[in-house]
Amino acid sequence: MKIGIVGLGLIGGCLGLDLRRAGHEVYGVSRRQATCEAAMAAGMVEFAGPELSTLKSMDVVFVCTPIAAIVPTVAELATLLAPSAIITDVGSVKATLVEPATRLWPRFVGGHPMSGKAEAGLAAAEARLFAQRPYVITPIEQTDARAVATVSELATALDAHLYYAAPTEHDRAVAWISHLPVMVSAGLILACDRESDSTVKTLAQQLASSGFRDTSRVGGGNPELGLMMAQYNQPALLRSLQTYRQCLDTLVAELEAEDWQALSRQLQTTQVKRQDYV
Ligand code: NAP
Repeated sequence: MKIGIVGLGLIGGCLGLDLRRAGHEVYGVSRRQATCEAAMAAGMVEFAGPELSTLKSMDVVFVCTPIAAIVPTVAELATLLAPSAIITDVGSVKATLVEPATRLWPRFVGGHPMSGKAEAGLAAAEARLFAQRPYVITPIEQTDARAVATVSELATALDAHLYYAAPTEHDRAVAWISHLPVMVSAGLILACDRESDSTVKTLAQQLASSGFRDTSRVGGGNPELGLMMAQYNQPALLRSLQTYRQCLDTLVAELEAEDWQALSRQLQTTQVKRQDYV
């Protein structure tokens, strides 16, 4: 297949590596010429340039730009592509994107590979980032079934685990396991930074080890991506954050009351429940 990738960053670069390895002809578009040249040099694409018209003869186009640019990119692609072409995206939110994109292009399929890294940009891209990770496809009533089948085949060829969900269900689910953790982890880093005793703060920075590295990783990631998750998934994220605040209030109350039995019960529950997620 001839496959286009718009946005040669972390996700676009990883897709290019895997799709070429699977035998597809891959062409890329990114705004900066330097990004296009780096993608060609790294073997992620056969050819890349800054003009979307480069992709006019593609069978499938993956839109891998930041969230805010996804629908405008679909609008521009809709003026160029053959009617049989499929457009899919990799955006971390779905409800605000899938309906407007489908109105612009009937063969649009929403998608979200659920793997990433703290670093952004092409230089952080690597082969097989999506292998053994979930890849969610989010069709709506109007979505073309054959287009869903083609995107599903491509995601399966990445060795990803395929799931299907309605866009709003996807957004509520990722609010819990992806967007809430970013805010919790950001809150952790902000709270540590409020330590007013500089000796204690320096010591904390020196003593921070694997536990802090794990819990602060997503709060220390790409700020542009974190902000867009919040802006484009605000209701679901607020709902999750409010429940999280209630859980924190309960833990604080138990600690203040020295109710060690209740606290112990909570920690025993979390030890068991974590296994449902990982
Ligand atoms: P990224 O590393 O910052 O890459 C995005 C790239 O898109 C940039 O390098 C930029 O390169 C290019 N770009 C920006 N605006 C563009 C435009 N209007 N037209 C063409 N290219 C444009 O971001 P990412 O982490 O790959 O995220 C990309 C998408 O994947 C987002 O929608 C995000 O929600 C989704 N996603 C991210 C993760 C993750 O963990 N990072 C996981 C799953 C899904 P130039 O400056 O050269 O244009």
